[in-house]
Amino acid sequence: MLSFGHCRRCKHRRILNDFDLCVACDMARFEAVGVDPPPRKPLIRIRPLFAWYDMWIGVFIDTAKRRAYVLPLPCIGFVIEF
Ligand SMILES: [Zn+2]
Repeated sequence: MLSFGHCRRCKHRRILNDFDLCVACDMARFEAVGVDPPPRKPLIRIRPLFAWYDMWIGVFIDTAKRRAYVLPLPCIGFVIEF
C-alpha cells in the first residue's frame, strides 16, 4: 500500500511505500544492498610448458591439482589449469 507522508530516510514529504520510504530512497536501498560481482576468474588457463626432464609425449591429467599437461613434443607442451 502506498501512503503519503515523511520519508524515513530523506525526510521529504512524498508518496511512500510499505517501508515508509519514498521511491528514490527505496531504489537507493536496493543499490546499497547490491554487491559487486566477484572478480571474474578465467575458467581455463593455459600456459606454455618447457621441461627438459619431461621426456615424454602425451597427456597427463592431474585431477588433484586440476591441471592437464599436454606434451605434443618431448619437453615442450602446455599446462591447462581448470
Ligand atoms: Zn526518501
